[in-house]
Amino acid sequence: MSNGTILVVDDVEYNRRILDGLLRQHGGYDILQAADGLEALAIARQTRLDLVLLDINMPNLDGFETCIQLKADSRTRPVPVIFVSSSDESLDKVRAFGVGAIDYVTKPLHIPEVLARVNTHVALYRQQRELEVLRQEQIRHLEAIAEIKDKFVRSVSHDLKNPLGIIIGAVETLRESPLTEEQVQLVDIIERKTGFMLAIISDLLDIARIEAGYAPNRAPISLHLLVQEALIGFDLLAERKQIDLTMQLPKGDAEVNVERHAMCRVIANLVANALKYTPTGGSVMLEAFTEDDHLSIIVRDNGMGIPEEALPHLFEKFYRVPQPAYLQEEGTGLGLAIVKAIVEQHDGTISVETALGEGSIFSVKLPLRGRSAK
Ligand code: ADP
Repeated sequence: MSNGTILVVDDVEYNRRILDGLLRQHGGYDILQAADGLEALAIARQTRLDLVLLDINMPNLDGFETCIQLKADSRTRPVPVIFVSSSDESLDKVRAFGVGAIDYVTKPLHIPEVLARVNTHVALYRQQRELEVLRQEQIRHLEAIAEIKDKFVRSVSHDLKNPLGIIIGAVETLRESPLTEEQVQLVDIIERKTGFMLAIISDLLDIARIEAGYAPNRAPISLHLLVQEALIGFDLLAERKQIDLTMQLPKGDAEVNVERHAMCRVIANLVANALKYTPTGGSVMLEAFTEDDHLSIIVRDNGMGIPEEALPHLFEKFYRVPQPAYLQEEGTGLGLAIVKAIVEQHDGTISVETALGEGSIFSVKLPLRGRSAK
């Protein structure tokens, strides 16, 4: 059985024959030969190679240029290239490695050394491919598990929503009957906790719907109206926490073409977070404006900020920055995941700048003429 296929590229037939015989006999390889760079590229693109031995000085396309082209093509890029140079001094080693060679040998060829280098690089390349196959298998496996988990979460959320709605209704009815002080307190607790459970379930179902992929149902709306609608109730919340909540909108208003409900959700979630994670006496500012066919929404606060190590996970489902219990705010860790999913469905981007103890700036940028629902 062959140990692999090697392409020997040299314009001198004698040199090709020497390497061909050596690698066949002592290495157990299949050998293909090319007399110049162009022929080498054509063979490399059509054949599954394990290694290329590439002469440098050749007419037309020299070894360096051939190597550059091999590395520029995704089909041939991973194949290891060893340069064969006429003498150690004449080889520009930095350039050789710079264009992507993995190693070099010099003439006159020292047979055991050539074989040792070739065997090593063929084996390394094989291991690399095996690892890549394993990695792909693992990715497929993880995707399958994630899909099962998502389905499970969707069906459980769906099944829980109805009974929970009934419990909430029953508790409302119960409140209307004469209750002792203790019973009122218990009803308060049930109401608060069931409300929180319903919020989690609604968020989970929303995220499942958004992640299932949908084209936003865009319609023109005044930017002032959109922000006004998104901020309903927040002035009261800000007042209660003595936070200075301000807005900066374009003077003459602007019409934006977005999905109204989804974009309200984005603004509301970001402002709610800013209020939640800013201590009493702080300030929160919402800025929204259009510029070159883009809508920008920026929410700044001078609150607690976010530690750097949390940033890679910030938009993941259920992620919450670990806080000591006395600082822990109520939440599900789903808000930012929903915001990001909506923004991405609108072909937009979201980013955050933050400094611990100083505050955070969340910036959303959306194209206004993106895909729309059919
Ligand atoms: P939740 O607020 O329900 O925990 P989110 O997904 O909205 O979930 O936010 C994830 C985490 O990001 C929060 O738990 C909080 O730690 C952090 N975070 C979000 N917004 C801010 C903000 N403006 N300032 C500081 N931390 C924030």
